[in-house]
Amino acid sequence: MAKPQNVIVTGSTSGIGQGMAHEFAKAGAKVMLNGRKLNDAAQAVLTEFQDAYGKDMVSFASCDVAVPEQVEAMVEQTVAEFGSVDVLVQNAGIQHTSKVHDFPLDKWDQIIAVDLSSVFYGIRAALPKMLAQDFGRIINVASVHGLIASKEKAAYVAAKHGVVGLTKVTALETATTNVTCNAICPGWVLTPLVEKQIHARAEANGTTFEQEKLALVAEKQPSQEFATPSQMGALAVFLASEAAAQITGQSMPVDGGWTAQ
Ligand code: NAD
Repeated sequence: MAKPQNVIVTGSTSGIGQGMAHEFAKAGAKVMLNGRKLNDAAQAVLTEFQDAYGKDMVSFASCDVAVPEQVEAMVEQTVAEFGSVDVLVQNAGIQHTSKVHDFPLDKWDQIIAVDLSSVFYGIRAALPKMLAQDFGRIINVASVHGLIASKEKAAYVAAKHGVVGLTKVTALETATTNVTCNAICPGWVLTPLVEKQIHARAEANGTTFEQEKLALVAEKQPSQEFATPSQMGALAVFLASEAAAQITGQSMPVDGGWTAQ
């Protein structure tokens, strides 16, 4: 990784985002953590990071990524505290499962806002600064569902396909600069977002959480293992490095072979 790097990781108080933030901090970057609010759980994560990496190396931005003004404020806060935004990891995301004709309108709007529009808001806020400083890495966390579909995930699949398209457009528009834009496409990663789906399956099928956990992976992921947040983080750190300067516009599955089928 080129140093120093100042990194924003959205949705980093749990799951994949938290794992990615750890990998950047371990690599020596300053990390702006993000959640909607600095509540007790978020404060605990911030304290854990500051204890591990140093008080000056980690900060927190309260920001709902679905609100463009708050995204702009998060970028400004990062520049004010760290001096620049070199890497923007857009990871915050939500899920809801339901058949397409039953999909609640409010859930559709919420998923499109948090999983897709937020990525546009982040690019809109950070890219001019990256172009001005002649360096930037935008890393969007899409999903295998940005490349292929599954039943009962209409809004999520639409949003994640949108993220993959937006990643390509941003890459083409920045291709002659030192800014790159790529997407990471995780398969199953055992995080609160997926645990919720496993609990729902166990309830619907009268099975246990453990049984459904194994069934979920076996259905889709040929490796039959979950990918991990730290594996996503390691790929993101690589994409932020000089070695990845010619990788742009790509959407990279980390999915145990899911999308090879
Ligand atoms: P998670 O629920 O553990 O984490 C999501 C994070 O986003 C949370 O910290 C949450 O507080 C935050 N968040 C949600 N809405 C927000 C908002 N409006 N503003 C700011 N923060 C917000 O889920 P995860 O599994 O770690 O998911 C992270 C990303 O990875 C998501 O974009 C998800 O779609 C994607 N993904 C996850 C998997 C998986 O198997 N877990 C697979 C493919 C893609």
